[in-house]
Amino acid sequence: MSKTPIITKSPIIARSGPALRRTLDPFRRARQTIALVPTMGALHAGHLELVRQARRRARRVVVSIFVNPLQFAATEDLGTYPRDLDGDLALADGCGVAHVFAPTVAEMYPEPLLTTVSVADITARFEGASRPEHFAGVATVVAKLFAIAGPCRAYFGEKDFQQLAMVRRMVADLSMPVEVVGCPIVRDHDGLALSSRNVYLSEAQRAAAPVLHRSLLAAAELAAGEADVHVVRGALADGVAAEREAVLDYADLVDAATLQPATSVVPGTQRLLVAARFGTTRLLDNLAV
Ligand code: AMP
Repeated sequence: MSKTPIITKSPIIARSGPALRRTLDPFRRARQTIALVPTMGALHAGHLELVRQARRRARRVVVSIFVNPLQFAATEDLGTYPRDLDGDLALADGCGVAHVFAPTVAEMYPEPLLTTVSVADITARFEGASRPEHFAGVATVVAKLFAIAGPCRAYFGEKDFQQLAMVRRMVADLSMPVEVVGCPIVRDHDGLALSSRNVYLSEAQRAAAPVLHRSLLAAAELAAGEADVHVVRGALADGVAAEREAVLDYADLVDAATLQPATSVVPGTQRLLVAARFGTTRLLDNLAV
């Protein structure tokens, strides 16, 4: 009979897939539930909320920290994306993370990479239209993380709502042994959704950025009493466009499961999505209707 390993205080760091699997195997044999929280690091309170939710239902929480080159276009911020492994490890330690998986790019993507995963339809619009390669990059890395971690509960933020919908669909379509759990958006005091990219904002852009949340709240209020989807969509778009620092990318009301644009307001089943540029920084937000 296998013994349950002693629980160490600081996270056990694995740098390769086989190393993570080896450290998880005894816990799995001991029937401990494993929870996976995939991140790109630069951890903030939004990530830590995923960890908190994960710890409620699993003894062993694995946080993966990997800035995934596959999901960045050549013109995007892969080179400058904030990285702070030491800071991340300290935060992970402080909130009871048992394992950190921090692989190298070479470890994750042996050259040449011939197999990728893409999810049709749900990824066609919104982020997928603005960032054509993005979701195949995300789906591929998440599929790899699931394969490495093995059967688990995986925690994703509603902050990246389209990504969450895509991951749910990938898991269903490919019969992956993973239970996907979505967690609410963690916001700053003024409503701005926390994001690792918020550090890029100038003072003026940071002051302007809560317009996304404010406009979402106003549009959701309209939706509660307004049947015309064009009015709701227009209110969201106009709210953001009124802010000088913001350049609207998209604003829409969609079905929360399929991400198809709504043709009428059906409260309880829909989501308002918005994205805008503040200088060179693109911010996303969304709200349930
Ligand atoms: P990232 O490191 O930006 O790839 O995010 C890793 C995970 O954290 C994703 O599932 C995100 O949706 C989630 N996340 C990021 N920011 C927030 C936030 N403010 N609230 C909730 N979840 C978040």
